[in-house]
This record gives sequence, C-alpha cells and structure tokens, in this order.
Amino acid sequence: MIDEPEVRAFAAQFRAFLKAIEESVPAPKPTRLHQRLADHLGVDPTELPVTTEGFPAYDHANVQAAMDAYLAGDEVNSDLVGLIGGGRDHHNFADLVNNARRQGQFDIGTVDYTTVTVGVGRERACVSFGLYLISEGDQRLAVLMRLSNYRGGALETLVEVMAASTEAGQAFLHRIRAEIVKHHICRGQVLSFEPWEYGAGMGPLRFHERPKVDAADVVLPAGVLEAVHRQILGVAEHRERLLAAGHHLKRGVVLYGPPGTGKTHTVRHLIGAQRDATVIVLTGLGVQYIREACNLARVIPPALIVLEDVDLVAEERTVSYSNPLLFQLLNEMDGVAGDADIAFLLTTNRLDLVEPALAQRPGRVDLVVEVPLPDAAGRRRLLSLYGVSAHLDADEVESVVTKTDGYTGSFFAELSRRAELLAATAGDVRTGMKHVTAALDELSRSREAAASSGRPMPPPVPGTPYV
Ligand code: ADP
Repeated sequence: MIDEPEVRAFAAQFRAFLKAIEESVPAPKPTRLHQRLADHLGVDPTELPVTTEGFPAYDHANVQAAMDAYLAGDEVNSDLVGLIGGGRDHHNFADLVNNARRQGQFDIGTVDYTTVTVGVGRERACVSFGLYLISEGDQRLAVLMRLSNYRGGALETLVEVMAASTEAGQAFLHRIRAEIVKHHICRGQVLSFEPWEYGAGMGPLRFHERPKVDAADVVLPAGVLEAVHRQILGVAEHRERLLAAGHHLKRGVVLYGPPGTGKTHTVRHLIGAQRDATVIVLTGLGVQYIREACNLARVIPPALIVLEDVDLVAEERTVSYSNPLLFQLLNEMDGVAGDADIAFLLTTNRLDLVEPALAQRPGRVDLVVEVPLPDAAGRRRLLSLYGVSAHLDADEVESVVTKTDGYTGSFFAELSRRAELLAATAGDVRTGMKHVTAALDELSRSREAAASSGRPMPPPVPGTPYV
C-alpha cells in the first residue's frame, strides 16, 4: 500500500529538482542573424510581419533580374548575406528569425547561388538562399530569396519580405512583379517547356536558336503560305491599325497533313520571320504546360505559341480525368484576351482526331490549312531546292517528277542525300541520273516495305527540330 503524502512529497521534490536543472542551463544566446536584423530594421525582427510570394521555379532568373533592377535604384542600398543552419528549408522566414533568437539555431553565413540558363549558351548565377538587407530612404526591408519546396510539391522561387507593415511588404512585391515584366529574360526568345526531371511541375526553360528558313525554301501550293503569313505575321505587322478599328489580334491557325509534308518546316519559317516575337514551343505531351505558356505570352507579347502534334493529346485526360488535354488547350486559348498579340499555331497529322474538339470549341482557330503532298509543280521545285535537278537534264527531271507522285517533301531532301552518297561510294566524280534512279529505287523499296508491314511510314528525314 503506497502512502499518499509520501508520494506527494516525492513529486514536489522531483519538480524542484527539474527546475534547478533547467535554471542551471544557460538560455541559448540569440545568433548574429537576429542581431543583424534588429540593427538593420531598428526593431526586434520577431515582431515584424512577413509577406511572401512564390514564383514558379522557372522564373528564378526573372526574379533575380527584377531584384537586381530594383537594387540598382538611386535611393536603394543593400547588403546580401547568407543564412545557415541545418533544416533551414523546412522553416519560413519568420520561423528562422524566431529560432535565431530563442534557440540560437540559424545564423549569418555564406550566400548560396544556383546557375540558371537564360538563353542559348548563356547562364547566370541566381541567389538560391540569401538575405537582402535593403534601405530605401527611411524604409528598411529584409528580403529572403530562395529556391524552395518547403511548402511541399513543386519547387518555387520564394520571396519573403520582412517590413514595417504588410502594406510595405506588398508594395515591394508589386515592384518586383513590375520589374519582372520589364526585364523578362524570355522576351523575344525561342523556348520550349519540359517536365521537371526531379519532381512535379514544369522544369527549366530550354532556349533555342531562332531558325532561319526562307519563304522560297518552303514548297507549298500557291496561296497556302501567303494565307498563313497574313494570319500570323500580317496581324502582328498591322496590330495598331487593327486594334484602332476594334479588331482582335489573338489568332489560331491549324496546319494539317501527312507526316513529312513540311508542317514543322513551315513553323520554323514563321518563327524565323517573326523576329520580335517570344516563341513558346510545346510538343506532344508538353501541351500540358499550355497554361504556363499562355501566362508567359500574356506577360511578354507579341508571342507565338506553337503546339506541335496536337493529335497526340486528343485523348489524353487532364489532371481532373474528365477533360481531354485538347479541350484544356482550347479553353486556355479562349482565356487569352482578344487584344493580346498572341498567335497560336497548331500542327497535326490527324485532323480527324482534332476536328471534333475544334467543332465543339468554335472561335479558337480562325484558319485551318492543309499542308498536302506536293503536286507535280511542287515536286519540280523540291527537286531543284534540294539540288537534285542540278545533276539532271530537263527530261530526266520530268521523269523523276512523274515517278515521285505521292511522295512527301521530306522524301526529296533524303533523295538528294542518298544520290550523292551513292555517287561518292561508287567513286564517281559527278552525280547523275543513274545515282538518282538508284536512290529513288532504294527509298521506294524501303517505303513499300514499311507500308506492307502495316507500320506507318516515318518521314525519311526525321523532322528537323527547332534547335
Ligand atoms: P512534318 O512536320 O509535316 O512532318 P517536316 O517539316 O518535319 O514535316 O519535314 C521534314 C523535312 O523535310 C523538312 O525539314 C524539310 O527539309 C523537308 N520538307 C518537307 N516538306 C517540305 C516542303 N513542303 N518544302 C520544303 N521542304 C520540305
């Protein structure tokens, strides 16, 4: 039987013992981080509000460019310091500062940088964990900038602003957003979006050289290229006049036709011809990033959004599993304001798969253009364009034109290469009709073999990528 007063006396003694231990351990000292912030801000930083904004990870270089532009202001002075301590990624700025004060955990240290691609062959260092101590007139700010996934999910570029008031924090973020638009690294560039290799969301931007394909090198039936030109380039050229007359600038064009007839070739020509436009290329499943593409296009028009092989997503469901990706694409197109100078250029080998969606979402596309197999005149031009005619007399050219009925544009580029190769292998100095005929036979045989195997014939020359 336990004696109750004895237990109570023991408990009291034990509590006193614990208290004595607690008092004998000195409280952790606030770190230099806390002191530095207090000196800079003029008050205890744990009492100030923090206003936060997350930008997509791919905007890292834009946030950096905006930050640099802001800091270059006449009245602005700043210091950049690092912030160290294990587990810092799991805490927001307010936590980090609180910890620095009460547990002495996080401290001033080195600044972390990440290298970010900002153009073809161009990179820049961006702060991936750093604290800016900013003074502008009487105002004091502490801005933590980092690449973070502390809120879970996709990486983001996080900007956390400690200021005298929430309004001051918001005003700072507003200025950063405005600077992003002014100094956007994507303006006028050709880029594509890809999935993030290491997790959810969209990965880094990929930049490409602007292709250069002359109109004369695109062989299409009379009037076809002109119609596409007028819609894509003509509207851009006459944007002021069209807007003044109350017309919209947003436009959508679909190029359709069998593989290898020159749809990508035409797109490359248009990209090259629209020199000042920002071009965003989404291919196949990349179409899932249509929202990001539209957002970007809205920020830095004029823009051309290229959606290659849209038939590949005709049946794909979006995240909600109810809506094919193609419908989402058309909805996003609809969400772009009419007066924005944004052109959508869609390509497909399977208009039959795409057409029902277009019919159900009218008004998104104003021009549907066939890029057909070349007719006799087209084949004559292609033979000349790819240098085959140079080896032949007029009758020989005509006989090749007749034999190549039903062949795609890409076939002619390959025919030229194959004939040259056969001549070179045979040690013949000049390429002539016999090599062209042999090349034609070889290519036709492999074409027939592919056709009889039931597999669709891939274009003999793989589609030239944008790069
Ligand atoms: P598609 O996109 O229709 O499948 P591509 O544009 O990728 O076809 O064609 C592959 C290559 O074949 C092109 O890069 C180009 O060299 C050549 N080609 C195809 N069609 C044409 C054409 N109409 N005019 C000129 N070249 C063509």
